Amino acid sequence: MLEERFSGANIRKSFIDFFIERDHTFVASSSLVPGGDQTLLFTNAGMVQFKDVFLGTDLRPYTRAVNSQKSMRVAGKHNDLDDVGRDDTHHTFFEMLGNWSFGDYYKKEAIEWAWELLTEVWGLPKGNLWATCFEDEIGEIERDDEAADNWYKQPGFEPSHVLFFGRKENFWEMAETGPSGPNSEIHLDLGTGHCALEDSPGHVCAVNLEGCTRYLELWNLVFMQYNRTGPSSLEPLPAKHVDTGLGLERIALVLQGVDSNYKTDLLSPIMDSIQSLTGHSDIEKAINITPYRVITDHARAAAFLIADGVVPGNTGRNYVSRMIIRRAARFGSLIGLDEPFLANVAGSVIENYGDFYPELVRNQSAILDNLLREEKRFQRTVEAGVSKLETMISKSQSDKVENLSGENVFELYATYGLPLEITRDIALEQDIEVDVEGFYAAMEEHRLASGAGETFGIFGEEHVALYQDLFSELVEAKKLDPQGTIYDPYDRYEVQGEILALVKDGELKDQVEAGDSVEVLLPDTCFYIEAGGQVSDTGTISSLTDPVWEIKVKAMRRPSAGIIVHVGEVVRGVPRTRDQVTARVDIQRRHDIMRNHTATHLLHAELHKVLGDHARQAGSLVAPDRLRFDFTHPEALTNTELQEIEAGVNRNVLENYALNIMFKPLQTAITEGAIALFGEKYAETVRTITIGGESPFSYELCGGTHVSETGDISTFLITNESSVGAGLRRIEGVTGRGAYDLILRRFQALDQAADLLETNPELVVDKTRGVLEQLDGARKQISTLRKEMIAQEFNRLLENVPQEDGVPVLITSLPEADAETLRQMADLFRQKYQSGVVFLASVFNGRPLLIAAVTEDLVERGLHAGKLVKYAAQPLGGGGGGRPTLAQAGGKDPSQLETALQNAQKWVKENL
Ligand SMILES: [Zn+2]
Ligand SMILES: [Zn+2]
Repeated sequence: MLEERFSGANIRKSFIDFFIERDHTFVASSSLVPGGDQTLLFTNAGMVQFKDVFLGTDLRPYTRAVNSQKSMRVAGKHNDLDDVGRDDTHHTFFEMLGNWSFGDYYKKEAIEWAWELLTEVWGLPKGNLWATCFEDEIGEIERDDEAADNWYKQPGFEPSHVLFFGRKENFWEMAETGPSGPNSEIHLDLGTGHCALEDSPGHVCAVNLEGCTRYLELWNLVFMQYNRTGPSSLEPLPAKHVDTGLGLERIALVLQGVDSNYKTDLLSPIMDSIQSLTGHSDIEKAINITPYRVITDHARAAAFLIADGVVPGNTGRNYVSRMIIRRAARFGSLIGLDEPFLANVAGSVIENYGDFYPELVRNQSAILDNLLREEKRFQRTVEAGVSKLETMISKSQSDKVENLSGENVFELYATYGLPLEITRDIALEQDIEVDVEGFYAAMEEHRLASGAGETFGIFGEEHVALYQDLFSELVEAKKLDPQGTIYDPYDRYEVQGEILALVKDGELKDQVEAGDSVEVLLPDTCFYIEAGGQVSDTGTISSLTDPVWEIKVKAMRRPSAGIIVHVGEVVRGVPRTRDQVTARVDIQRRHDIMRNHTATHLLHAELHKVLGDHARQAGSLVAPDRLRFDFTHPEALTNTELQEIEAGVNRNVLENYALNIMFKPLQTAITEGAIALFGEKYAETVRTITIGGESPFSYELCGGTHVSETGDISTFLITNESSVGAGLRRIEGVTGRGAYDLILRRFQALDQAADLLETNPELVVDKTRGVLEQLDGARKQISTLRKEMIAQEFNRLLENVPQEDGVPVLITSLPEADAETLRQMADLFRQKYQSGVVFLASVFNGRPLLIAAVTEDLVERGLHAGKLVKYAAQPLGGGGGGRPTLAQAGGKDPSQLETALQNAQKWVKENL
């Protein structure tokens, strides 16, 4: 039976409390979307949010931290997806408990506390714990005796339980260069009877032995003590750090005494919710354990992803969200869950995790809606996709090919929405492999062909190295602040200083000339650099003294940590390094940007008010001439909603609220309810923007530049509302000068319309309505007249119908007759002739029309109106058909009408 103190929630809490008591600061889990790290798809370890601290580019107000981090391992290097569901331990989403020292305590305390928590607080038997330490197999790096000695000192620790391992097991590196160090892992001996290889001959159970499941790795303590600068050069780090990781699911399994993560109380309620949907007995559930596990794992991951704003979509993270939902839905269909069911399962995820991760509760409706929508969307296409896949598989089998080509698999995805991972699941069930690399190649080709390719920076690694060297030199020479370029784009539009570097084509230059493209490094800048959707500033840099020169600044870049450069073109003169300069932002453009930025905050608040709190920001663009705001909302906005939103924003503009801009600790701002954006990375101290005076209605974390009072915006107009993906809407708008231009253009158009209608602007609508009514009447009259004329003409033709083999055959065109008129004329023919063939052609609204009628007696002789029109319509690029007595056809190319008539003549002659 589960002991209350060892419930998953209580284990998490006791870990955190244990370290808080030892002066650690609790740091909330960061989003699954890593802030400011483009190289990583998802947060996959506790250290992601502390990476910059270890790299020395960021400082925190604490030196000891404890956290429980939401993590995903589903793509890239750490990809466990194939194992998920097939065993008891692998997950896409998991929680990682960790304690951290940033240049504070080291091995002694880390080992002491780990031992105390495991054995004293949680009561694990001391004799069953083992510790591994580092010993370099090639003898290049010092053996970690410091860690081993600390293990020997722990009360009750069995000294023979320290084992040494090499680089693969016990040396940790962040990347090819950067922080690294030995680690020490704690393993638990589960006892005999827990080894999967027990019965294989010659197997002797041991720690770190592939396939041996008797020893379970519990906790990894990483000691960062080196900075790797090259393949075989390690330098000691000035400040040593500790980074530890203890998987919550794993420790829960141990403390709850169960043999599967899915039996812990973290996951069993989710398993139960699936069982209550299928109505399976426990035995049926055991038989179908893989689908149960996959759905449990994926439903939990999907709920956490959507709560962090990662809704299902076609690329990157959104693709992963889509893929795991679809994979769960497909496994559901294997156990009879054919109707959408994931929202139901996610309900138990929210219930089970909502206390510690309130974002699940806050975003409950978004989670449930997105799951339901995605399952429905998948249902519509999955059958077609799977049957197409099955055709491909049986073709591969009959061709004796053992894999499916990447193009085929991509086609299944692009046409039928069948994600690669699901195709692979199904193919593997039939022993067919999938060409994964080929799939990505096909995807890439498609992405380029469709023009959706993104251009990342133009900077190569050498370029980065150039700036890194420059940074060290300039800081040493005290020309550059140790934190890098001073960046303050607020409240100033002009700075003066010395040119520290000019870079052209990736090389340092002493001087550059007119026409050159150049990057300019100054010690200080007031130019805003693109962030949070707001575009970079432009402006000029010019010489303070003779000789005169000028550079036009077109963009801003951050080529390496601490360095901000102005990117531009020399328009006149010869700029030189060390020249004294003034850098000026284009103020008018910047004011336009500020108006648009503040307007997005007003718009965001108004969306919450009119649509609800689920309408969360999912992206934005703040440019000088327009603003664009993407947000989560399931359907198109009505005109009434749009009007209400626009009016609300303008009301707040006219109230002329002063913007309250403050710096405060991140945690304070979040607690106060400030809106933070997903995927944005925030420092410990954040800038907050509050609008609304006494009772603020907008409170956001934002580093952008803003107007001082909302009245500066002057007017806000919505120019467009559209969809940008599943559950994502986009509003575009203009303010200030852009709004004035728009109003002016609309007024001018209205005035012109009024002039043409010979009325005044207020009466344009009434007048237009009248004109349209007149026009409609005139059209009807014309149509009646035309029909009369056609009838008269046709009657004349009827008087003199030529005979073919003694049968009256009338083949002719009636210009501008519609289909109905043609039918009426064909009827007239049949009233007059009891035996005969009529074939009529016309061009109506630019498209050719054919009609043919054959009397009953000739049908008996084998004539068929359908075959006649079909044959005649060929040159028109069209087709048609109908009954033997009456048939109709259309086409595309009216210029071939004469040929169609000749075809009809020929067909009748041959078939009579
Ligand atoms: Zn074993
Ligand atoms: Zn903002």
